[in-house]
Amino acid sequence: MSKRIVILGAGESGVGSAILAQKNGDDVFVSDFGKIKDKYKQKLNDYKIAWEEEKHTENLILNADEIIKSPGIPEKVAIVKSAIEKGIPVISEIEYAGRYTDAFKICITGSNGKTTTTTLLYHILKNAGLNVGIAGNVGKSWALQIAEENYDYYVIELSSFQLDGMIDFKADIAILMNITPDHLDRYNGMQGYTDSKFRVIQNQTDQDIFIYCADDEVTKQELTKYNIKAQQLPFSLNQKLNNGAYLDNETLIIKYKSNELIMSIQELALKGQHNTYNSMAAGIAAKVLKLRKEDIRESLSNFQGVEHRLEFVLKVHGIEFINDSKATNVNSTWYALESMPNDVIWIVGGIDKGNDYTILEELVRKKVKSIICLGLDNTKIHKAFGEIVETIVDVKSAEEAVKTAYYLAKKDDNVLLSPACASFDLFDNYEDRGKQFKQAVREL
Ligand code: ADP
Repeated sequence: MSKRIVILGAGESGVGSAILAQKNGDDVFVSDFGKIKDKYKQKLNDYKIAWEEEKHTENLILNADEIIKSPGIPEKVAIVKSAIEKGIPVISEIEYAGRYTDAFKICITGSNGKTTTTTLLYHILKNAGLNVGIAGNVGKSWALQIAEENYDYYVIELSSFQLDGMIDFKADIAILMNITPDHLDRYNGMQGYTDSKFRVIQNQTDQDIFIYCADDEVTKQELTKYNIKAQQLPFSLNQKLNNGAYLDNETLIIKYKSNELIMSIQELALKGQHNTYNSMAAGIAAKVLKLRKEDIRESLSNFQGVEHRLEFVLKVHGIEFINDSKATNVNSTWYALESMPNDVIWIVGGIDKGNDYTILEELVRKKVKSIICLGLDNTKIHKAFGEIVETIVDVKSAEEAVKTAYYLAKKDDNVLLSPACASFDLFDNYEDRGKQFKQAVREL
């Protein structure tokens, strides 16, 4: 029977959901409180889907059988509250799309490392010849792919906002990278955020797999609260494990059902501790899918990395420039600094999300020569590190940051853009910040 499906938010996920619902023969309406991008209007028109922008018309929305809400819209918004009060189910794109596919689903969540691990695992599966799609926060909407493609496997990146709107959805393989403070404003504190992340294992049975980081304190603590039915495959840098992945000195061991894949961490394409975690998580999933060891090893060694994540830009007169613009919280910057082999000129700053810089202090003492603050208000950075480093300067553009870094750096130094902050004070978004940085480096 045809249902009325209303979609709130006409971005990538909303428009994808609308197209899938239309194909299913539902009565579809899309409403966006902001302006809808032209390319999405065009798509909605192509499919003859009704839409409105810059408003939410209550009587066109609150008559829905089900509402699919974009992950970007908080539950506090008036129209969402009204819908919930009326008892209309408010779900996510992933929940909706999940009903219309039998494909095998590998879902990746966590505070950091989602995109890298999702992209890496996709690369491994694709190179091994599987008919696989990538979805979630990366690339094309999942709902759209279900409407238009026919993949057997999906690697899906899930943010906590997407997980919130999931009820009956089940991941065949769930991967939880780590849990560190983020988005606490939207969750009334850490517990709400943690609960949201753990939704990745909801509905799993003993036929399913749960991959997680055994070194992550919050994950470990929370695990005890859940009755986990799935088979657990942890990964760790610090302890030997019977199943999952771990390190033995410089050797990475991935073990599943007494079958082992062994490779040196020197062979991994992605460098740094955080990336070893990412390689471990992706490697375990690939092993569960029974891919050939040689294929997994080859893909872990030839992966090209993802733009703006510890991305090597250029070496100029022996000075290496690295773009880690996606590091928008302190935790990801910790891993970036940790992975730097040489003295660092560190470009940091932007919009502070309530950062506590103390966890970086030791690394900064050890590795950082100079700090370049790239933000409108740099007070907290000066306060945290002003006494620790030789030089600390303020700049107001990526170009100025790069020129200053080049002036301060000596041969063999690393110039690292790893801001630990959001970018919206001086840039459109983190991609814009990373691109401007790279452009400035190329112009040196
Ligand atoms: P997400 O999609 O979760 O935001 P990304 O893969 O885009 O994660 O990486 C975001 C930032 O975090 C980058 O600066 C990256 O270098 C860093 N990072 C990547 N993987 C990890 C990890 N496992 N733990 C901590 N930081 C990480």
